[in-house]
Amino acid sequence: MRIPIRRAVISVFDKTGVKELASALHGVGCEIVSTGSTAEAIRSAGVPATEVSEITSFPECLDGRVKTLHPAVHAGILADRRREEHVRQLAELGVEGFDLVVVNLYPFSRTVASGAGYEECIEKIDVGGPSMIRGAAKNHANVAVVTDPSDYARAAEAARRGGFDAGERATLAAKAFAHTAAYDAEIARWTAKIHGKAVAGEAAAGGADVGGEGLSGNVGEAESSGVAAGGADRSGTAAEEENELFGCVKVADLRYGENPHQSAALYSAGGGGVAGAVQLGGKEMSYNNYQDVDAAVRAAYDHAEPAVAVVKHANPCGVAVAEDVAQAHSAAHACDPLSAYGGVIAANREVDAAMAEQVAPIFTEAIAAPSFSAEALKILSSKKNLRILQVEPIDVARDIRPISGGALVQERDRIDAEGDDPAQWRLVSGEPADEATLRDLAFAWRAVRAAKSNAILLADSRATVGIGMGQVNRVDSCRLAAARAGERAAGSVAASDAFFPFADGLEVLLDAGVRAVVQPGGSIRDQEVIEAARKAGVTMYLTGARHFSH
Ligand code: 5GP
Repeated sequence: MRIPIRRAVISVFDKTGVKELASALHGVGCEIVSTGSTAEAIRSAGVPATEVSEITSFPECLDGRVKTLHPAVHAGILADRRREEHVRQLAELGVEGFDLVVVNLYPFSRTVASGAGYEECIEKIDVGGPSMIRGAAKNHANVAVVTDPSDYARAAEAARRGGFDAGERATLAAKAFAHTAAYDAEIARWTAKIHGKAVAGEAAAGGADVGGEGLSGNVGEAESSGVAAGGADRSGTAAEEENELFGCVKVADLRYGENPHQSAALYSAGGGGVAGAVQLGGKEMSYNNYQDVDAAVRAAYDHAEPAVAVVKHANPCGVAVAEDVAQAHSAAHACDPLSAYGGVIAANREVDAAMAEQVAPIFTEAIAAPSFSAEALKILSSKKNLRILQVEPIDVARDIRPISGGALVQERDRIDAEGDDPAQWRLVSGEPADEATLRDLAFAWRAVRAAKSNAILLADSRATVGIGMGQVNRVDSCRLAAARAGERAAGSVAASDAFFPFADGLEVLLDAGVRAVVQPGGSIRDQEVIEAARKAGVTMYLTGARHFSH
């Protein structure tokens, strides 16, 4: 059920986009209640905003430590307006309910990272903001909570169309709890470090005051106390020593890494994505589960239509698009049922009961989707070990890969490079593909990059039928794809993530009966490869774009 946004509280440190959001809310008749400088920013856009102090009849005080911490605010956020008693109490107390809470927090980690002193870091521990966020998230049956400026456009749109529906409010609430959890984990670790330094100071100087002079330097340099956010003490592990990496904050220790003798931890950027996934059921997520879920989610979201990817060891063993996710799953699973055993499944749409019924009998490590219908959740939850993850897709701007002595950073590969659009492809052999063949080729081209290089992907009816990946020469990838496809190779289409350096790999595919091929081209022996395709009368397109994935 949608809840119209009639009254909102807005209190943001980062003022990006707040004027536009306030204007949109005002435009639909929403009353805005706001804190000091947020109210000023909103008013400067010509939008009226009621100061929180007007509704609390209490001034902001203690250098801003107490602004919104008042029942006039929190009763308005926490009232369950489905309960008569709550509605009656609000009326008696003269408190009005809120439908939307928009808060972003004091930038604690940025302040610590800047080398700020103890007092400044302490003041950047937001108290009122997380309280409102948690209150609204708890009460998502009545209130929507927005913590990320990139969700403002969604909020403005929701306000125009009569509010967020229950599913959207729950998704926002999950994101909000993940956000405050990451924020608090960061503060907990910083505080633990302070404690470590204070103890060290006491031992050396016979006493140190945690808030005293001795700690006014860059407290970020203090020794780790070995207290992890989750309470596990695994001092000395590489994962534990780093609280913050590339702007991500450690949110959990994992049982172990890729192998049982390796320590490991999960870091989150504080938004959605796989690191911010909400687990709805099943066993604890492992390091390898996270890797596989990430690969599966990425593969599923490479397609605009309902899509499902089945992944093992970060490689796809089946990808398909169809009218709905149940059909897509059935086709993706059929590609390689042997490998799908113990795999990870991701869908780019809500998982419905039909898909859940199909998944339940298959031994699966984890299933990820943007949402699950109530019926699907019931079916999947009956598998006690199956990890069920609600993952909100996010746009990842860059890939970071450590190498000895440093790291490599690159812009993330997307299927929007020059040449990715079939309209830009160059026909170099055979007849132009008919509509159905072109759709299959376009699907194969989108799907192939999910497989590690050298990757060859065979597809039919917008489902993979054989994938060869991770080989150190392209001929073996062709052999693997053809062998996995078996009889289904005949009449399928093929995509290659990079050019064929010789005709030999292509010849394997031609012998298997592939009828159309898409590949980047660009080899000095392109002509040799094209000749082989022409001789076989096979359609071949060159994209000019390459999608290596190592
Ligand atoms: P403003 O810039 O509008 O004056 O303040 C906005 C910031 O104040 C937001 O980041 C919000 O999380 C924070 N905030 C809201 N209420 C309180 C409170 O009662 N105490 C503290 N310390 N911060 C608050």
